Amino acid sequence: MATNPCSCGFKGDERKQCRCSQAEFTHYWNNISGPIFDRIDMRINVPRLTDADMSCMSEEENSESIRKKVINCHKIQQKRYYETGITYNSEADFKFVNRWIRENEKIRKLIPKISEKFD
Ligand SMILES: [Zn+2]
Repeated sequence: MATNPCSCGFKGDERKQCRCSQAEFTHYWNNISGPIFDRIDMRINVPRLTDADMSCMSEEENSESIRKKVINCHKIQQKRYYETGITYNSEADFKFVNRWIRENEKIRKLIPKISEKFD
């Protein structure tokens, strides 16, 4: 589920000022149905892309390059899920991912760094 951070869409934006009052902000979030909200385990703020971000993406990538990346991802997943009955990340359930994290020291050490970076 993706949503704006507030009704004007600029709460937390570094370049544009949010025009919402606290009451409007509260009303906006209260309008999201409780049962839907209960199913959300994680909320991630996705800030506006900077000009530097955009310039990195301006170079078009050709299909062959993308194909190679996809094949490489499949190889990584084949190695990761060897003899598990799983082929792709999309098939790994919550329990599997938790176990994989617990058993993988490199990943366990990486999680706090990722969390700090995207906090
Ligand atoms: Zn706003």
